[in-house]
Amino acid sequence: MTISKIRIAAASAFAIALFNPAHLYAVPALPNPVQIALKDDPYAWDIIEGLTTEVGQRQGGTEAEARARKWAVEKLTEMQFANVRIETYQMPTWVRGEESASILSPFPQKLAVTALGNSGSTGEAGLEADIVYFPTLAALKAVPDGSLKGKIAFVSHAMKPTQDGSSYGAFGPARFVGPDIAAKKGAAAIVIRSAGTDMHRNPHTGNTNFSEGVKPIPAGALSLPDAENLERILRRTPRGQTVKMKLKLTPRNIGMQESGNVISEVKGSNPDLPPILIACHLDSWDLGTGAIDDGAGCGIVTAAAMHVKQYSRPKRTIRLLWAGAEEVGVWGGKAYAVKHKDEPHALTMESDFGADRVWRVDFKLPESAKSLSDSITADLSELGIARGTAEAGDGADVGPIREAQNLAAIDLAQDGTRYFDLHHTPDDTLDKIDKTQLRQNVAAWTAVLLRLSNYEGDLKMPPKEMKP
Ligand SMILES: [Zn+2]
Repeated sequence: MTISKIRIAAASAFAIALFNPAHLYAVPALPNPVQIALKDDPYAWDIIEGLTTEVGQRQGGTEAEARARKWAVEKLTEMQFANVRIETYQMPTWVRGEESASILSPFPQKLAVTALGNSGSTGEAGLEADIVYFPTLAALKAVPDGSLKGKIAFVSHAMKPTQDGSSYGAFGPARFVGPDIAAKKGAAAIVIRSAGTDMHRNPHTGNTNFSEGVKPIPAGALSLPDAENLERILRRTPRGQTVKMKLKLTPRNIGMQESGNVISEVKGSNPDLPPILIACHLDSWDLGTGAIDDGAGCGIVTAAAMHVKQYSRPKRTIRLLWAGAEEVGVWGGKAYAVKHKDEPHALTMESDFGADRVWRVDFKLPESAKSLSDSITADLSELGIARGTAEAGDGADVGPIREAQNLAAIDLAQDGTRYFDLHHTPDDTLDKIDKTQLRQNVAAWTAVLLRLSNYEGDLKMPPKEMKP
């Protein structure tokens, strides 16, 4: 057996133990609060259920996000976190309108579509135009400027599920930059195959961005079955004929609106130690109720901080950031970095990849903190988590402050195999959360926070090497 096979075997042996409560007490090496979190954490589920039920969908900048902030303050206060507060900021806000797509010829039928964030509008009357097909984003990039005048570009791709979510990095750009490129080529509109991995008639929304000076064109995502159907329609269309689509998307920009970060703390006993910043995002897309993205993250990090708080008085302060508006442009993370730029921070962590089990831990720590990473690795191995070799630094919301201050980081990588079945769809709802895997997340975070918040060594990273 290779080492990686042994690790997999150990992980699956533990996975079996996880599903058999009788085995839970056979892990004496784990500190008490980790065992408690693993056995019956009540907090994470309560937060996710509360947010998705009492607030529901909560897009950044809307009144629903304001209700979510109020809910968050009440919940964190009830849980007796310290310094619970809202830090508001203004952000440009885009809201969805009507949305429909249909093939007019040669095979008339409806398709399931949703607008991408920042999409332009077709106007009430909608838009009728010929489809030009691109199997990949690279194919779209290759056509000359101006060549798509009056056409609807259709960009497909072959995103498949990956445990580490890397396929989103590979195929997500069809959404992130495809519309901007199509606009520059002169297209009247664009539809993409959703950046997702399910085979349901649920299109996946998500933000797109247009370059300065480029007028936003209508930009929609088709569900995967509809994108595949459109490919077949294109293949079966007789030579010399075109495929004509009618697209109606009527989103609006409603200008600058108030959004806000919700911040709270577990106070450390040593005020000289800079705080650990742990984050999730409070906002969600508007199609589902934001259970996996990112109610789960808020549930996980908060439950873990709660277990640490109940068990001990940590030396280092743990600061929780429930960021206000990640999906629509990381406005919360940017506002946090501006407001707190002169305060020292020790390290950042974030949970924003669903609620399936943590399978890998990565570190970005100074050399001097080797004993810290070794003890965390040992604790996590009890939970079936392997040590990775990547440099940590995940998390959109902590990204701006992490980059500005060159902060240390720890990533608890979750299994992303089914994440993009649900991501940004109407299917992102509470019933998709697996309680056993959720508790494993809380246990892993509790283990890391216990070690981190009681570590008194310096966590300052050496200055970044300047590129020649
Ligand atoms: Zn998210």
